[in-house]
Amino acid sequence: MIADRSAFPIAGVVGVIGGPDDEVGRQLTRLESLPALGGVEIRADLFETCAAGLALTERLKDRWPVLFTVRLAAEGGAWRDSESRRIEIYSEALRRGAVLLDAELRSGAARALSEHGAPLLVSHHDFDGPIGPDALEELTAEAASLAHLGIKIVPTAARPLDALRTLQWVAARKAGGPRRIGFAMGDHGVFSRILTPAWGAPFTYGSLTVQVAPGQLSARDLLDIYRAPAHTRATRVFGVIGSPVHHSLSPYMHNPAFAARGLDAIYVPFALRSFSDLWDLAEPLAIAGVSVTIPFKKDAFDHATSADAASEAGGVSNTLVWERSEGAVALRGWNTDANGVLEPLARRRIELAGLSVGILGNGGAARGAAGALLAAGASVTLYYRNKEKGESAASDLGCAARPMDDLAPRDHGLLVNATPLGLDPRDASPVASRVFTPETIAFDMIYDPPDTPFLRCAAQAGAQVLIPGREMLVCQGLVQFRLFTGEDATYDEFEASFLGAQKERRGKQEE
Ligand code: NAP
Repeated sequence: MIADRSAFPIAGVVGVIGGPDDEVGRQLTRLESLPALGGVEIRADLFETCAAGLALTERLKDRWPVLFTVRLAAEGGAWRDSESRRIEIYSEALRRGAVLLDAELRSGAARALSEHGAPLLVSHHDFDGPIGPDALEELTAEAASLAHLGIKIVPTAARPLDALRTLQWVAARKAGGPRRIGFAMGDHGVFSRILTPAWGAPFTYGSLTVQVAPGQLSARDLLDIYRAPAHTRATRVFGVIGSPVHHSLSPYMHNPAFAARGLDAIYVPFALRSFSDLWDLAEPLAIAGVSVTIPFKKDAFDHATSADAASEAGGVSNTLVWERSEGAVALRGWNTDANGVLEPLARRRIELAGLSVGILGNGGAARGAAGALLAAGASVTLYYRNKEKGESAASDLGCAARPMDDLAPRDHGLLVNATPLGLDPRDASPVASRVFTPETIAFDMIYDPPDTPFLRCAAQAGAQVLIPGREMLVCQGLVQFRLFTGEDATYDEFEASFLGAQKERRGKQEE
């Protein structure tokens, strides 16, 4: 049985099924809800006995192409029996209908299966770190010496460049050679899991319920949100840069809006170590635009070729858009957080001229909000915990600054929480309910959880106008969408996408 290299038996997104055994029922239910899945990987080593994985292969083979894998503990798996027994299990999986076998390079199983011409994906994982260009070449040559359909190389990214290298490796496949699947594990590699099909990999992996590798996304998100198999190198790449970014719900708003308009574009999370990591990615991925989150908004402004007035006012940008023409690249900085603050107030017809505003915090979002509110005629005081930072921000902006403890009731008509307090369910409100009155407008920038300690304190004091961070996220995202695509999305559309994603995430946390 000599494997035919021209045809690859699985394409798209592969959902991974593995133990513990009591989880399998839920994984099968999820599988049923994903008809567009391109295949199923059965991680037989993760079941209590391999017999369960073999039985499942037989059961699923007529519905989905099955990739069958048995990994040793040293290969990141849980197989503890002998190598000869492992080879027997692989052979049995083929008899039961598996179309592809994944065996680790340098294993006895890979050699034996290769000798028998089995449909083989030879893989190499490094759970400890990245793989440099020379090692990548050596591993490729070694893997190619085995008779197989494909090679998979999966390092752990210490920085985004390590993940980019895996994509470039996928794209460097020679015509007629074995297909390549490359991406990197870990937070810095998440974008490569999404983009590997666009760079030429036949498929990428997604979890069904339990994540079986660091950074693995759900199969549902890969299919429904990112539409990973639909993209090519011509697809326009957008994303969100930050550290961390895994909490960001922006991909859930932008991607469905691209799809609804038939735009060949994708929006992915880029977890950077430092802002300079962006330069490693921008040109190779031809990134067209990014949203910028903590802690890079000031860097974004500092590195933009030019920036809008809202960025200038606060000294921070939360959006970067690349303009490339005839070899020249200009990077435009925008601050759509400003719109995110102003729009929810405008929707409530709140007069800003002369309004006294207290902003808790002096970071990127506080600066953006203060700049926009000052420009709209409000008087602004920043409340800080660190005098030096608070006064420095106030002096940049031309507004007042006071210590957080100085905040007294009736000082301000509008109080904005621009600290991260409330993100963690154990957080207390940054200010006590005594600082609110029924007339205080309370605006919390935090959008997840929806019910924050700050807004609860305001409600306890009888405050009538409570503005959740979701409105800011939606309003700033809509402006970004226009900057990215030149098209308009609607508030209702973005909000519905956001609420759906938030509900899904809460459901997962409760599972
Ligand atoms: P940032 O640059 O890190 O600034 C955070 C600010 O909060 C800093 O001034 C920091 O003080 C202060 N702070 C942190 N912990 C505090 C504590 N325990 N007590 C008092 N002050 C504290 O973050 P950012 O970009 O401005 O974002 C701030 C918040 O707004 C985040 O929660 C973010 O998720 C949210 N946000 C929401 C949206 C939206 O669309 N809804 C948009 C942007 C931001 P130091 O200066 O002393 O460190």
